[in-house]
Amino acid sequence: MAAMSEPSFRESVDMMFNRAVQVMDLSPGLEQKIRVCNSTYTVRFGVRLRGKIETFVGYRSVHSEHMEPVKGGIRYATSVNQDEVEALAALMTYKCALVETPFGGSKGGLCIDPTQYEEHELEQITRRFAYELIKRDLINPSQNVPAPDMGTGEREMAWIVDQYQRMNTTDINARACVTGKPLNGDGIQGRVEATGRGVQYALREFFRHPEDRAKAGLSGTLDGKRVVVQGLGNVGYHAALFLSTEDGARVTGIVERDGGLWSEDGLDVEAVRQWLVAHGGIKDYPGATYVEKGATLLEAECDILVPAAMEGVINLANAHRIQAPLIAEAANGPITFGADEILRARGKVIIPDLYANAGGVTVSYFEWVKNLTHIRFGRLERRREEARHQLLVDELERLSADRGWQLSPTFKSQYLRGADELELVRSGLDDTMRSAYGEMRALWHGREDIADLRIAAFVVAIDRVAKAYRSKGL
Ligand code: GLU
Repeated sequence: MAAMSEPSFRESVDMMFNRAVQVMDLSPGLEQKIRVCNSTYTVRFGVRLRGKIETFVGYRSVHSEHMEPVKGGIRYATSVNQDEVEALAALMTYKCALVETPFGGSKGGLCIDPTQYEEHELEQITRRFAYELIKRDLINPSQNVPAPDMGTGEREMAWIVDQYQRMNTTDINARACVTGKPLNGDGIQGRVEATGRGVQYALREFFRHPEDRAKAGLSGTLDGKRVVVQGLGNVGYHAALFLSTEDGARVTGIVERDGGLWSEDGLDVEAVRQWLVAHGGIKDYPGATYVEKGATLLEAECDILVPAAMEGVINLANAHRIQAPLIAEAANGPITFGADEILRARGKVIIPDLYANAGGVTVSYFEWVKNLTHIRFGRLERRREEARHQLLVDELERLSADRGWQLSPTFKSQYLRGADELELVRSGLDDTMRSAYGEMRALWHGREDIADLRIAAFVVAIDRVAKAYRSKGL
């Protein structure tokens, strides 16, 4: 996919890191310590499937342990390799630091095409992989806490936590060994939608600032903006769905593995997703123009491009043809270092992955805290909050009764209802996205040598990691 002269994914992340440290005041030793990946464990294990033994290769890479546990998803894909997990682990370090989730960075992966296996086979493989990681403390509530990533979801996390519990029967915090678990398995409301929701909150926050919009040559709100989304997996689907149904954006293009769909009037994201799930592809979806070479839609005219599939999709080969003035990196590393340079030179504004896709790990953080406290958010205070609101409403009604004033029923029902877990999670995520944006923005507008959001994100993150190392006496 990428052109010949492209660096590897890990090198690309390191080059972005190097760009940032040039404008910082770190000792070369500390700089090097932060940049390098601490360790990568490779495991090859056999599973007896369909009468013969099949060998799988898996990885868990720990980039930085300046805070523990370290955090990051486990990916199931045939493209998984050491360079990729190390790049992704590094991105986790910086992402967690940027959005202030108290974790170091890690990532795991299994080189597998999950579509080729039955559910019970995947369970056997997952449990065996988890066993290998658990016995080395590479899955552990206080040391290393995985989560879903490409090709994995709630189901795999449920198998992993069960495997951990079997091996640690007396660990009271066992359920916190992994996040992204199903709701009935100690997960948290809003985790599945979290990364897509985070992309929406990131874009909303961007559009709140007229100067920022102006840098991308855009004005107004998200309402009516033309959006092209690449990848209708968990992240792309939720981002596209929320942007179109809640913010009035028009999803004019959707790019998937088997091609792209285009509609000037805007696609029905839910309908496309249903079609994709039912048919395994988007081809033949009615009511839209089908484009066989889906990737060409990345280059189509639109207002916001949301690459939500995988790394390196915007590279030296296509960067000069991208038309969108604003790109929100919903995937990890969708733009290579070289492409980033080209896009910046062309005046494009990029909302970087460290920030744009941090919603997932943010809500993972809430889930981990919920598991450690052993209580659902809002359980203690919700009814108390409702009772106090009722008190106020009763008093207002008493005072206004003889004047003939009345509180509107919508106000009353909204005001009287105490926040449930989902509302609290969304509120925490929104707050996180706004604060992190504020930090990046202050540097972006405040310092001449920090001319884009990516370098700003890296500077905020690296500075935090550096401070953590310094406070440890390094
Ligand atoms: N895999 C997600 C990411 O890349 C989530 C990681 C997590 O929740 O730990 O950010």
